[in-house]
Amino acid sequence: MPPTEHIPHILLVEDEPDIAELIRFHLMKAGYYVTKAHNGKIAIELAMENQYDLIVLDLMLPKVDGMTVFRELRGKTKTKDIPVIMLTAKGQASDRVAGLEAGADDYMTKPFSPKELVLRIKKQLSHVQKNKQSHIIKIDGLVFDKVKLTFTAGGERMDLTSTEFKLLLFLCEHPNQIQSRSTLLKQVWGYSDDVHSRTLDTHMKRIRMKVGSFAECIKTIRGKGYMYTVED
Ligand code: CA
Repeated sequence: MPPTEHIPHILLVEDEPDIAELIRFHLMKAGYYVTKAHNGKIAIELAMENQYDLIVLDLMLPKVDGMTVFRELRGKTKTKDIPVIMLTAKGQASDRVAGLEAGADDYMTKPFSPKELVLRIKKQLSHVQKNKQSHIIKIDGLVFDKVKLTFTAGGERMDLTSTEFKLLLFLCEHPNQIQSRSTLLKQVWGYSDDVHSRTLDTHMKRIRMKVGSFAECIKTIRGKGYMYTVED
């Protein structure tokens, strides 16, 4: 499958129509998808139903105020990691502190330049991108999440023990290279001896049973060790 470029989707929570439209215009121009919410209640509903990459949140909102919306979002698994940039008209230092203390990723005081908002959004999205890249390892159809310790093979979630996870990840991070038995033992168990040598084979056997058709990629190199093969 060719990689498709992901266009970031931003939820813009702002009750003043003119300001909302001005921000939306600049965000669209910068290449983002924008969905507008004009009160806090709708904002929470939209955030629970859709997948947003970032939320621009005005604090002074009708129905449910911005800080309450923010706490709701941070309290739910689905939305807790979405970067939030807060907006406020008050411009008081105490608001800024309260916003950042509550865990907002950034904060802007009205009136602000929409271009500056775009720059701050870019900065937040690039942080997320970097974090994602460093802990997600993809090899062919295998995906390792080193933070959540989850593993999928061909899009299917497989339960690996932490030892199996470490073992397979190490092999996959060095594709098409023979890993000696002692290297694997040291990497995963911290040392190598004959007892663990048999344990290694048992774990490899279990991994092969768990990864389905990907088992073919794991080669036993007789007298040497193991290798994960990837076609060029
Ligand atoms: Ca407002």
